[in-house]
Amino acid sequence: MVELKTDTSIDAMYEAGQVVGRALTAVQKAADVGVSLLELDEVAREVLRGAGAGSPFLGYRPSFAPTPFPAVICASVNDAIVHGIPTRYRLRDGDLVSIDCGAELGGWAGDSAISFTVGEPRPDDVRLIETAERALAAAIDAAVVGNRVGDIAHAIGTVCREAGYGIPEGFGGHGIGRRMHEDPGVPNEGRPGRGYPLRHGMALAIEPMLIASGRDGYHAAADGWTLRTDDGSRAAHVEHTVAILESGPRILTAR
Ligand code: MG
Ligand code: MG
Repeated sequence: MVELKTDTSIDAMYEAGQVVGRALTAVQKAADVGVSLLELDEVAREVLRGAGAGSPFLGYRPSFAPTPFPAVICASVNDAIVHGIPTRYRLRDGDLVSIDCGAELGGWAGDSAISFTVGEPRPDDVRLIETAERALAAAIDAAVVGNRVGDIAHAIGTVCREAGYGIPEGFGGHGIGRRMHEDPGVPNEGRPGRGYPLRHGMALAIEPMLIASGRDGYHAAADGWTLRTDDGSRAAHVEHTVAILESGPRILTAR
């Protein structure tokens, strides 16, 4: 069931989204060569604590997961696409890092992700991240009343495929509200004019995931959480929580 939020609820979701945005900004600022993924998780925990916010990630255990998630961020490095568990791994020069973070504030959830490089970036990674951001922007442009979920999916898929990148099937965006994952699902590829109609008061987490090689294959790593590309090529993941309003899309996790 797709829940429509009141304007007051959307304002409350914006407050939760702003905490996520601040956490991601702090994590990106702290990320450098030699900094560990656990240290980045601690940076995000401090922002959430300071805001009086909870984490929808910590202890989360969907059906596919062998263990509850142990952190407030996902930290996915290089060939990891999403759901990376923060470890003692220390970032190296040229790493491509994707950080996903959520917050719960006042009973509402926010969910957002960024990709960036540390140290000297590889040109291929810069292009991959820029394309992911362009796909997200195109998707947000399509997140308007009167369109359908398929228009968002089509916008993402078109940008990614035209740039020659792969898309991991089966993972994508979602409705969001009091819970982090609500209906409807928002695939990263699809047919325009199809799927659930977009209405005033819907809130969606839109999250393109791109694989540099152009192939789509991925698998779960030994930890049961981290999704890695089958061919070892690098991946990028960006996400915003967006409200669909008569006045146009509102990015609730804007930084
Ligand atoms: Mg997320
Ligand atoms: Mg999400």
